[in-house]
Amino acid sequence: MNSADILSVPYSQEIMDKVNNFTRRRLTPEEVYLFPLVLCDNEVDRDGERFSLSALNALAEMFVGKTGIFDHNAAVSGQTSRIFHTEVETQPQQLTSAGEPYTCVKALAYMVRCPQNESLIAEIDGGIKKEVSISCSVAKKICSVCGKDKDGCPHRAGESYNGKECHIILEQPTDAFEWSFVAVPAQKNAGVYKSAKPDSGLQSQVTALLYNCDTVLPTWAIETLVEKMPEQKLIKLKDRLQKQLAKRAEPQLAAALRSSAKSKPSSFSLGGKNNFKF
Ligand SMILES: [Zn+2]
Repeated sequence: MNSADILSVPYSQEIMDKVNNFTRRRLTPEEVYLFPLVLCDNEVDRDGERFSLSALNALAEMFVGKTGIFDHNAAVSGQTSRIFHTEVETQPQQLTSAGEPYTCVKALAYMVRCPQNESLIAEIDGGIKKEVSISCSVAKKICSVCGKDKDGCPHRAGESYNGKECHIILEQPTDAFEWSFVAVPAQKNAGVYKSAKPDSGLQSQVTALLYNCDTVLPTWAIETLVEKMPEQKLIKLKDRLQKQLAKRAEPQLAAALRSSAKSKPSSFSLGGKNNFKF
């Protein structure tokens, strides 16, 4: 299925079959709201990092089925959605600053329609909520200047060497954790959180979980704290954070499912007026 198909046949049988792979009972088109989003791409980001093309392909597969939250706000029930389809799209005409054809991971997500998320759906339709932040871990970070592991090379991201600006290429994603919508770009957690700890993954998992909770700490502070924490504490913390996030995600979906029977669908538009280029 290509992008054109997604736009031209919203709420088709094929699309609904994909949605219903993830639901407890079969949902009808009237019960769900579908929306497209761009998860990540190969452009150098604000941290001076970019994903390799193979990393984007791997991430596309990993994000299918992952739940997303909005504004990290656990207080509003029913505002949980899930990615049910992803694809990698390349625009051969548009080159990135690194000289590669622009490539991104696009996704389709669904939300169960209910009174609690009516205004949220209106915001998505209006293009207000369009910045997506994702968290994932990668096994390798490569220097764009010398091609070596960034830990063992003298080059620094953002600095120029013989007219070539150094950035870090993220390779071999090992896990994708969660995604979220943030209303305003450049907000504290906006962007992509990438951990490069090929170890047991415990530190990077806890860091990613903390990143997705309502913390006011910047990423570097979270990383510093986690690095200093003994393993036993990390295991306990991971357990608590997972429970907290699960509590946030699953009951909301279940509650939304229960209340969806009472709500009336207002419109079916996929793409439409929102600002996503899908
Ligand atoms: Zn280097």
